Amino acid sequence: MVGNYIVRGLAALVIGLLCSFGTIAEEQHTFDALLSEVRKNLSIAPKEADSALEKLKALQPTFTPEQNEKYQIAYAHSLGDKGRHAERVALVQSFLSQVKVPARRASFLYELIDGYTALGRYESALQAMNESVLLLPAIEKTSTKIVVLQGALNLLRSLRAYDEALDFAERIYALRGDTIGSYAACMGLGNKVETNYTRGDNVLARSQVQDAILACEANKNQFIALIVKTYAAIDLVDSGSYVKGIATSLPLLQEYSVLSPESDYATQLDDALARAYLKTGNAERAEHYGLQAYQRAQRARVLLLQEKSSETMAAIKRAQGQLAAAIGYYELNLALKKEVLDDQLQKNLAYQRVKFDTQDKANQLALLEQKNKNLGMEKALQDGRYENLILLSTLGLIVLTILGAWLVRTLQQKNVFRQSAQIDGLTQVSNRSHFMACAQQAFKDSRQRVSLVLFDMDFFKKINDTYGHATGDWVLKNVSDAVKTQLRKTDMLGRLGGEEFGICLPKFTAEEVKAVAERCRAAIAAIDTSPSGFEFEITASFGIATRDIDGPLNFEETLAAADKALYFAKNEGRNRVTVYQHPGA
Ligand code: GH3
Ligand code: MG
Ligand code: MG
Repeated sequence: MVGNYIVRGLAALVIGLLCSFGTIAEEQHTFDALLSEVRKNLSIAPKEADSALEKLKALQPTFTPEQNEKYQIAYAHSLGDKGRHAERVALVQSFLSQVKVPARRASFLYELIDGYTALGRYESALQAMNESVLLLPAIEKTSTKIVVLQGALNLLRSLRAYDEALDFAERIYALRGDTIGSYAACMGLGNKVETNYTRGDNVLARSQVQDAILACEANKNQFIALIVKTYAAIDLVDSGSYVKGIATSLPLLQEYSVLSPESDYATQLDDALARAYLKTGNAERAEHYGLQAYQRAQRARVLLLQEKSSETMAAIKRAQGQLAAAIGYYELNLALKKEVLDDQLQKNLAYQRVKFDTQDKANQLALLEQKNKNLGMEKALQDGRYENLILLSTLGLIVLTILGAWLVRTLQQKNVFRQSAQIDGLTQVSNRSHFMACAQQAFKDSRQRVSLVLFDMDFFKKINDTYGHATGDWVLKNVSDAVKTQLRKTDMLGRLGGEEFGICLPKFTAEEVKAVAERCRAAIAAIDTSPSGFEFEITASFGIATRDIDGPLNFEETLAAADKALYFAKNEGRNRVTVYQHPGA
């Protein structure tokens, strides 16, 4: 049901455009030639892709396991193009466990992320994303790296995690190398434009448009250049330059009719044209483009586009004085708005469950913003001069019912979220707030001894700087896994932020805790980093503080004491365990 034009747009093109490079050289082989033909057309010319896929399928009995994996990736992608995401996900799931080569595993994961996202299963999508990002250090080819980064970027953008999405755009751009007009430069810049427009930062996006177009044209990447131009044209309309917006949009629409007539971007362009014509008093043209956008959005079942184009159609019908038709579109629009809000809520919940709880505030703000927007729309409806008062009250009632139902669900789901937002997405250990809450609880029983161990990775910034952020992530995940193996069930490990962790150990004596910390320190130092693609040393420094039975320290004081001990461990040369000594002890 869910759709998002971003996920289906720039995103979907990645597999198609990119993967064609690697195989062209071997076109003498039928398999490679056909696969290359499929990949070239995926997401752009679905019919051609299908016919090449059919021919490939006939060769299936002769496939090597590797060829079969490549075929399945392309087939999964074509299912996505047709909106058959449940089958796509099932297909990937049935293969994934046997795919060992990192690059191909990453391509399967891309299909999984995109499919889960389209199905509204954001939490699963985020988990697949985390796995694929962790594969980065083991992937050599730039084009495959871009597939991974783009997959993460699409998901984050559709979850409205724009800052993180922009980080990924930057990481794609960083792969551009020295050649002018590399694919990475085009995709990096194209993504920056798309993300900034999507988040409503039009001024910044506008300043990036020219560079993006230049890079994509230098890369002979007509389609991405077209997408960037599309955003710029819609921006003209949105900022009130209707005549200029129309003049810019019409030739672009022509390009779509050749390249990709059913593209969601063409739908957005149609919608912008409809709005521009409406504003300039040409209701007839407005209706032509408005209907085109509306019908295509229905066909593609892309929720955001359906919502947007139905609103445009309502305004057009209203301007034409066809009130009954206008009501029809308004009612539809309201129902779609509700669906958009629900979808947004699901996204927020998934994101919060999987990501840091610091996101909580930002997402709550986003929810409030949505709510305000809805209320604003209600007000705008009421402000409008309706000949028919009954119509107005009907609409008002619908809005209120929807809002009410939505708010009830919001509150219910917030509770669900509260219970499940306890895990750090990257390391799968407790997140900061959950760790703090549990540790605090452990301190409440004054009859038991409790210790806090804080540890912080040594020179972690250098690992990031030297081997890349993805390797840094790999380290954090592996450090968590290594430490976990040293702990009892009753001990609790949490990621307190960045590369700092905490362990809460009840009942142990100070000496016992020191021994555990020593074992953790050794386990970290013993991690074999070669699976990350690089060989380097990992160490961490530990600080310990213990609150004895009926001891004087409370939770906060013990935490501060452990932090002090950690500070000493760093100062004394790192890769060591330091126990806090009570003053005078
Ligand atoms: P020190 O031994 O003094 O602790 O040095 P350091 O380099 O470990 O400490 P610093 O605080 O300067 O750097 C911590 C770095 O951790 C900076 C930040 O970019 C990085 N970092 C924080 N969170 C993450 C993350 O989730 N993933 C990765 N890869 N890096 C992270
Ligand atoms: Mg550090
Ligand atoms: Mg630190």
